[in-house]
Amino acid sequence: MKVFVFLSSVSFFLFVMSINASNKSHDDSGLEDIQSCVSACSLPSDLDFSDRKFPIEKSEDQWRLALSELSYKVARKHGTEPPFQNPYHDQKAMGVYLCVGCEAPLFSSEDKFDSGTGWPSFSQSIDRRILAEQVDTSYGMRRVEVHCALCGSHQGHVFPDGPAPTNLRYCINSASLKFEPSDSEEALNQKILTWYSSEHFEKKSNK
Ligand SMILES: [Zn+2]
Repeated sequence: MKVFVFLSSVSFFLFVMSINASNKSHDDSGLEDIQSCVSACSLPSDLDFSDRKFPIEKSEDQWRLALSELSYKVARKHGTEPPFQNPYHDQKAMGVYLCVGCEAPLFSSEDKFDSGTGWPSFSQSIDRRILAEQVDTSYGMRRVEVHCALCGSHQGHVFPDGPAPTNLRYCINSASLKFEPSDSEEALNQKILTWYSSEHFEKKSNK
């Protein structure tokens, strides 16, 4: 009888463990799909900012005229460019990456790293006030979309699987960026500071 009770207890224990294990593996695989995936980067966003107010506003016709066809599709229509077939994914030059829509400095080459995904990847933005976030639940995934807080141009997504210390991976479209090279780290920082101290910026942020 004791043996039977013991075996029953062991069976019950193993049964409970198997349920936990199956739930855990299910959760983990879902997480991996979102975190590691190239596919999560490659999907466009199903977000509509047409009713949102940004400090810099243009009509659809003005945006079409100001941007290339690809940049318009990606930055203004939340599209995604193909991996590896974009100019900045493997660029290692020193400089600042500006928003294609309004030239706000969004990323520094100092924070760029090779993620292997085929898109320019950064561990942090220059200023989280200027790179705004929006939860994107399209395609049954929970992703965090990022866009320029000044003009609303879609940039890409941020995932929690980047390098330390931020552990963030900003997966950004080259088509949403405009690169300005710098000769030195000092020149790069000066370029960013100049933008912040310009009247141009104050007008934009106070509007
Ligand atoms: Zn912008």
